[in-house]
Amino acid sequence: MSWMNVLGKIFHCTECPYNLKIDYEPLYTEKGPTHMTQIGDDNINLWFRLHEKYNDSEDVFVCGEAPEEDYFVYLHEELLCEKCAITLMKKDPKLAKQCEKYNELMNNVISIFMLLENYKETVENIKSSEIDNFIDNIFIDRFHDINPELFSKTIGSKTFKLRGKREELILKYIQGAKDDIINHLKSIFRQNKNIQYFYDNFRKYSKEHFSRVNELSRQKYDKVYYKTDISEPENLNNHISYYFSNRTPVKTTPQIFFYQPITVDNDELISMASSLTPEMMFNIDEEATIERIKDRLYEIADIKDLSRPKQRI
Ligand SMILES: [Zn+2]
Repeated sequence: MSWMNVLGKIFHCTECPYNLKIDYEPLYTEKGPTHMTQIGDDNINLWFRLHEKYNDSEDVFVCGEAPEEDYFVYLHEELLCEKCAITLMKKDPKLAKQCEKYNELMNNVISIFMLLENYKETVENIKSSEIDNFIDNIFIDRFHDINPELFSKTIGSKTFKLRGKREELILKYIQGAKDDIINHLKSIFRQNKNIQYFYDNFRKYSKEHFSRVNELSRQKYDKVYYKTDISEPENLNNHISYYFSNRTPVKTTPQIFFYQPITVDNDELISMASSLTPEMMFNIDEEATIERIKDRLYEIADIKDLSRPKQRI
C-alpha cells in the first residue's frame, strides 16, 4: 500500500492562490522507466486528503483504483510562496531571524551529509571487510579483553564446558557486552590506516559545519519556515530514503523557492546535533553485527568440543 505512481507535485501557497506544478523524471528499472515511488502510507493518506481538498481533476490520471499501477497522481504540498514568506518576515523580524538561523543550521547539516557521502562507499566497504574478518577469526578467548568481568562469569567460566549451558551463557555475554563489542569494532576501524585517512579528511573539511551545527542547535526556535528549492531532488518518504523514494524534477523545472512551515522541537534538535560528530563515520549497523557475532559464537560452541579442561578455541 505504500507505493504510488507519482508524476510530479503541486505546491500550494497557504496564504495566496498561487500554486505551481512540477513534473518528475521517471525512475529507471530493468523493465524500463516507471513512476512507481514508495512514498509510505502516511503520504498516501495525505494525498487522498489533499486531492479531495483541492479537487483538482488534472492531478490524477486514472485507469484503475488507487494506488494500482495505472493510477497516476501529482502529490500536493502546502507551503508559503516566496512572496508571502518575504511579506511575513518583514512583519515579524523575530521570526525572520529564527528562520535565517534555522536555515543556516539545516544547510550545515546537509553539507555534513554531503561530505560524508563522498567517503561513504569506500569506508563502508573497508568497515564491512573488517567486520567479516573479525567474525571469520572469532575464537572464544578473543572476548576476554572486551569485557573480562562478564567473560569470566559467562563464556570464560567452567560452566561453559557444559554444552547445555552454552547458549544461555553466550546470550548473557552478548547482551551484557554489546556496547563493548561495538566499541571494540570501532577501535579496529580507527586503527585501519585507510579509514584513518578518510576520517582525517572528513574531520578537516567538516569542522566548520560541525561547529555551526553545535552552536545553532542551541538557539531557541518556535515555528519556523524552511526554504526549499523545488528544482532539487526530494525524498518523498518520511521514513526511508533510497532509489525508489527519491524523485528528481525534470531539467526544465525553474529554481523557485517555497517555505515549508516547521514546528521545531528544541530538545530533539539538540539531540540530533549531538549525534552529529566526525565519529559518525565509524557507525555500523549494530543490531545486525551483534546478531552475526552471536550466530558465529553459537556455531563455534556447537561444533567444537569444549568439554576437556584447558582446551579453548
Ligand atoms: Zn503566496
